Order: sequence, then C-alpha cells, then structure tokens
Amino acid sequence: MYPAMFTQSGLPYSFSALEPYIDTATMEIHYGKHHAGYVKNLNEILPDKNEVELEKILRNLDTLPEDIRSKVRNNGGGHFNHSFFWKIMSPQKSQPNQNVLSAINTTFGSLDGFKEKFVGAAMGRFGSGWAWLVKSGQNLEIVDTPNQDLPGGTPLLCVDVWEHAYYLKYQNRRLEYLQAWWNVINWSGISI
Ligand code: MN
Repeated sequence: MYPAMFTQSGLPYSFSALEPYIDTATMEIHYGKHHAGYVKNLNEILPDKNEVELEKILRNLDTLPEDIRSKVRNNGGGHFNHSFFWKIMSPQKSQPNQNVLSAINTTFGSLDGFKEKFVGAAMGRFGSGWAWLVKSGQNLEIVDTPNQDLPGGTPLLCVDVWEHAYYLKYQNRRLEYLQAWWNVINWSGISI
C-alpha cells in the first residue's frame, strides 16, 4: 500500500553524473528545489492522495474543485513531468533498441530527422514548457506543452525547456543545452 502522500523518488544517479552536459549545480537546484517544491505544494493541496493516482488526477482536472484546479495542474504536472524526466536520462551511453529505432525511422525518416524535429519543437516552445516524444495509438508524435502540462498519449521521452533546466550553464542558449542533452538520454529505458 502506498501512503497517502506524494513522494519524490531518489535520482537514479548523482547530481554530478550528467556533467559536463548538465552541470551539478543545475541538477541540485532542479531536483532539490524546483521538483521538491512541486511535491511539497502538492501534498498541501491534496493531502489524502498519492503517487498511484497522480496521472489520473492530472488527466481529469475538471473533476476537482475549481479553486485547487490550477494549483494541482501546475504542481502535480511538475511532479509527474520531472519524475519522468529524471528517468529518461542517464550517464551511461546507450542507443535506441531495434523497435524504437524502427518506429523512429518509419515516422521521421531517420534518427537525425527525429532529433531535428524534436529540437524544433523544443526551440519553438515559447517561454516555459516541455517537448515530448509520445506514442499515440500506433504512431509516434512529437508534441510540446506549456508550463507543467502533460502531453496526450504515452510519453516516451521528454525534455524540460524551462530556463531553470539550463540557465546556469547555458544562459539563454537553449539550443546548446538541447544539443548537449542528446548525450544523456537513457535510451535503454525506452521501449514501445
Ligand atoms: Mn524543471
């Protein structure tokens, strides 16, 4: 049984593990302050709920009382998205498995073609948000979401393009961050 509270899982690697692509200070603040803050707020807003219900809650926000809806959307989405984001990165270099690669090739022509479109979506997201690779039915799609909103479909990969994810090391150079980020993708954890 899960306790009636939201909890932040430990990072599956150290704060410095993604250096030099993602710097230690960014990871400490991102995980320890930003993500931890979303979890703390969420526990205050929904004290009797837990992890297991999170995605369902976020996909049915209109069933919540109106006065907490946007707080749950932002803090719950922040918790869900970051929990996923930490898992799709790794210091261990890996390649997409055969299924994933073949789906990417079918949809985007090649892995490079996919990366180009994905970076395009991440660059095109004005202000804060995320870019995603999702499986929707039998298809792969690249989408971007504002703030802490979830995408439709089943998320396979995501990148955080809030400035807090890259500003200390890359300042305003989002493209450089995105290009570096391909080096820390945990492809071994992605299957379809
Ligand atoms: Mn973030």
